[in-house]
Amino acid sequence: MSSITVPPPKCLQKTFVAPRRHMFGPGPSNVPPRILAAGAEPIIGHMHPEMLEVCLQSLVMSNQSQRKIMSDIKSGIQYAFQTQNNMTIAVSGTGHTAMECAIFNAVEPGEGVLTAVNGIWGERAAEMAERIGARVNSIVTTAGGYFTSEEIDRALAKHKPVLFFLTHGESSTGVVHPLDGIGDICHKHNCLFLVDCVASMGGAPLHMDKQGIDILYSGSQKVLNAPPGTAPISFSERACQKVFNRKTKPVSFFLDMTWLANYWGCDGKPARIYHHTAPVSAFYSLRESLAILAEQGLENSWQRHKEVAEYFHEGLENMGLKLFVKDKNARLPTVTTIVAPPGYDWKEITSYIMKNHNLEISGGLGPSVGQVLRVGLMGGNSSKASVDMVLEALRDALRYCHKSKV
Ligand code: PMP
Repeated sequence: MSSITVPPPKCLQKTFVAPRRHMFGPGPSNVPPRILAAGAEPIIGHMHPEMLEVCLQSLVMSNQSQRKIMSDIKSGIQYAFQTQNNMTIAVSGTGHTAMECAIFNAVEPGEGVLTAVNGIWGERAAEMAERIGARVNSIVTTAGGYFTSEEIDRALAKHKPVLFFLTHGESSTGVVHPLDGIGDICHKHNCLFLVDCVASMGGAPLHMDKQGIDILYSGSQKVLNAPPGTAPISFSERACQKVFNRKTKPVSFFLDMTWLANYWGCDGKPARIYHHTAPVSAFYSLRESLAILAEQGLENSWQRHKEVAEYFHEGLENMGLKLFVKDKNARLPTVTTIVAPPGYDWKEITSYIMKNHNLEISGGLGPSVGQVLRVGLMGGNSSKASVDMVLEALRDALRYCHKSKV
């Protein structure tokens, strides 16, 4: 008689084949064959020499000059972020993991954090900081808006936080926040400048070092077109001073930068110690996606996203649709927010487009729920051909979806 009380699930007897879809929501975006193929390479150990940068001595002994996967990724992130920071890694997890890594390492219980809320991400950062016992204050503006340097300066003077959080590409509202000068203001107030570039990196100009950003993180599944599950993050020298001179240990072992710095070979120690099993295939994919960005050139990528977004915005306005972000210069080139067409149920539009055009666009998120449709054209998806496809799908949906009389 079998000891098994739970039978093997019948559903698992069927092979799963993922549908082919146009991933034009705010993420994940389509993963091109080259990146998928990289992720399908055979698994090696997360501590094998091909993964880790071997210490200098063994390099000399084995006469190897070959770079290793993790150090290639580090160089790729340094390029994408435009930083020389040695403390540059990819955390194993999504954008939220990097967000928690930044906040958990930079802030100790009782310290002050200020978050800029012009969409959902500032709210989430505030919640994360609250959970570790920080004193949290926020400056809030309407969805679709952004902050002036004077507003930020005043709030920093008032609240005296150790960390200021700002989202570069607010994917819930479609705003790209100006960054110039804010780093200097933070430093004047003895505060670290933390920036979320999950939705903007590679798609909008960003210069970590020049802009005085102390901690910057992103995600793999947007402009990079890699599968979700790895998240680039970098810490400036000033941030490292704070992170590595804490009185208390960070609340998370998994995200403790003391461990991760060693794991990524950033702490100058010759031995690399096991911390967790790296998502090996995800690292292969991330490496390939960074290689593609490097081949294309960052400035070319920024320019293409800008031109494609402008072409898209013009097409939307020609159809009589309205853009949610009024200030042209504040429109995020990667994620466009369209005012939800009056009289229509936005859910019917997104479902119709999915069903009839095999194409994902999405509704709002957080403060923009019910107010907008969101379209993400990121990395390889940022092309005029994709724009034409979305415009056609929208035109069709507006013709066939129900319109109320009110
Ligand atoms: N920040 C921004 C600006 C984002 O767009 C996202 C993802 N939508 C995140 C953070 C969180 O990333 P993830 O979903 O990969 O955890």
